[in-house]
Order: sequence, then C-alpha cells, then structure tokens
Amino acid sequence: MTRRKLVVGNWKMYGLRADLPQVRAIADAAAANPSVDAALCVPFTLIERAVAVAGALTIGAQDCHEADAGPHTGCTSAAMLVEAGARTVIVGHSERRADQHETSQDAWAKAAAARRHGLNVILCCGETEAERDAGRAERVVQAQIEKSVPEDASGDWFTLAYEPRWAIGTGRTPTPDEIASIHAIARAKMRQLVGDAAQGIRILYGGSVTGANAAAILAMDDIDGALVGGASLTAEKFVPIIRAA
Ligand code: PGA
Repeated sequence: MTRRKLVVGNWKMYGLRADLPQVRAIADAAAANPSVDAALCVPFTLIERAVAVAGALTIGAQDCHEADAGPHTGCTSAAMLVEAGARTVIVGHSERRADQHETSQDAWAKAAAARRHGLNVILCCGETEAERDAGRAERVVQAQIEKSVPEDASGDWFTLAYEPRWAIGTGRTPTPDEIASIHAIARAKMRQLVGDAAQGIRILYGGSVTGANAAAILAMDDIDGALVGGASLTAEKFVPIIRAA
C-alpha cells in the first residue's frame, strides 16, 4: 500500500497574530505541492485566525481534553477545537508527558475524545536518551503504542509520530536507518493491535527535522512524513521540508 507523505508543523507555544503571514505563505507552498499532505498545529488562540488564512492547508491543535465537556479549568475540548476550525490534533507529545505528566493512557483517552468529535489524531511516542542508551528504545516505543493506540485506529484518521525525546529541539537525530528500524517495529506492534489497518497508518518521524536533513529522512520507505517543531515556525524553514517530501 502506498501512503501519501504527511508533513506536520507543531508551533508549540509560539505564534501571535503577527505570525499569520507565515501561515499564509506555508499554505501557498502546500497548495503548490499537492502530492504531499501538510498541516500546521498552532496554539489554541490562533486556530480560528489561522483557518481564515490557510486555504486548503489543514490547521490543527496540539492537545485536547479527554472529556467532552466539564469542570476542567484551563482545558480545551475536542468539540471546541472542531468549532474553531481545527481538523487534527496532536496528543501525547513528549513535552506534555514531561510538563503535564501525561501518560500513554491519557494519550489514548485524548485520541478517543478527538475521534468522537471527528478530528484526525497524531499520537506521539518516543524514548528518552537514557532509555536509548540502555538499549530499551524499541521496548519503550512498543509499550507506549500498546497503551495509547486506539483499537479502531486506521489510516483515514490516525497517524503515529515517532519522536525520540533526545532529538527534539536538540539538533541531534537518529540516522535514517535507525528511524526506519523503529518505524518497522512500531508498525509490527500496531499490526498486532489493529490488524491489517496498520498498513494504512502513517508513521511520521519528529525531532530536529530541518530543510537540510528532511530529504534523507523522508526518502526511507517506512517513514511516511515528519512532525516538525522549530523548523515549522517560518515559511522559509518549513517550505523546503514540504518540498523534500
Ligand atoms: P523539533 O520539535 O523539530 O523542534 O525538534 C519536534 C516536535 O517536538 O514535534
């Protein structure tokens, strides 16, 4: 099965109204590269405005609450994201696992909530440096997938992102072969969980992807795209990654 490449920008806690021209420029570049799927996950406060300038570019969010509504001060539900115009959401990002103590079970519940409201989901997994050094990267990723991937996951709404924590924002990346080998293990694990549907699920790589390394990483068969943080903040940096895909 051929899976279309998907390139997703994660703006994290960056992005004010003054940055909307970047959204528009990224959207223009995405429209000019129709063989690649592209999305931009912006802060909650920017979703509606980003949608207004994004044309066909998918705008997404970076988290949602697992409940549909309720007394959860400061939280944002999947229904709210949909109403704001988001079409996809990242769950289980390692920064939320570290800062907000989120677990793989939380990621599972958030993915389920997003699905209930018709959002696409990008679910993150990945080992720490200590886990990799201890030779446990594969087992950690397998365990995260087992606990977080929904039983009904399929490629039309679900994407997995492998993001080794030590590669995020550090300028260090595994080699394309190392990434592809974890992706193969991840896909085998998903096959155990969701059967043949695993073949249609895209697995992205994330962690210090730039215009300089994207082509080599995205050339690998089992790497279906990239989740990009720092290098997605400006069109100048992000558009070469879309083109490389
Ligand atoms: P980075 O972040 O590209 O800045 O390393 C990736 C991510 O956290 O999704």
